Amino acid sequence: MKAVCWHGKHDVQVDTVSDPQIVNPRDAVVQVNLTAICGSDLHLYNGYVPTMEKGDILGHEFVGEVVETGSGVSSIKRGDRVVVPFPISCGACWYCKEGMFALCDNSNPNAWMQEKLYGDGSAGIFGYSRLYGGYAGGQAEFVRVPFADVGLKKISDGLTDEQVLFLTDILPTGYQAAEQCNIHQGDTVAIWGAGPVGLFAAKSASLLGADKVVVIDKNPERLEMAKKHCQAETLNFEEDDIVEVLHGMTGGRGPDSCIDAVGMEAEGTT
Ligand SMILES: [Zn+2]
Ligand SMILES: [Zn+2]
Repeated sequence: MKAVCWHGKHDVQVDTVSDPQIVNPRDAVVQVNLTAICGSDLHLYNGYVPTMEKGDILGHEFVGEVVETGSGVSSIKRGDRVVVPFPISCGACWYCKEGMFALCDNSNPNAWMQEKLYGDGSAGIFGYSRLYGGYAGGQAEFVRVPFADVGLKKISDGLTDEQVLFLTDILPTGYQAAEQCNIHQGDTVAIWGAGPVGLFAAKSASLLGADKVVVIDKNPERLEMAKKHCQAETLNFEEDDIVEVLHGMTGGRGPDSCIDAVGMEAEGTT
């Protein structure tokens, strides 16, 4: 099959590689219909993430069709169209049972490396270095999905692949940022960075009850999208004194105003 492979800093190529196989009973093999490039992929591209090796297959945002399942998978079957969340989770450990799938104790055999580097470990992630489990990614024609009975979600017939692709990462990432702001009716919410995650955070903030959403970036095209798709007010941080303008919009720092700033990468695709 063809796959997008990392060869070093600023060196990504489409290679012909071996097709993935079922390794464990709870695996599935998914034929990828649609995949996205994440801002986090830029960290790999720019050489910031250790433990990448030449030939590693990239990609953790993808939807596709199940072509094979292991003997332990009954929740989905061959032919199902599925959305694949980027963290790989066992569904049975304490974290998974508590709904904290990104902290799964059983999907990252290299969590010990993260403990040394970051102080604690996380779940494995598709296409994101040995540090995150060393799993082949989804910017490929096929991908092996471990714990397929937990991660894979069947796509309803009325929805296109394009409509659900962002559920793999950036929509829930943006939503979570907004949710963590504890938004109340009438709040003003300011969001730094109008990449895809910032835009989804803006949209989510409105859905969660914010009265006014202000998106801050320096890129006019992004700010235009924030206006068009999120009905947000926009500020350009190269032109405006952001703190001063926000205080003006909300009546200052008084008890009746609430400015929650959601930090987003302004430069990356997120
Ligand atoms: Zn991502
Ligand atoms: Zn788990």
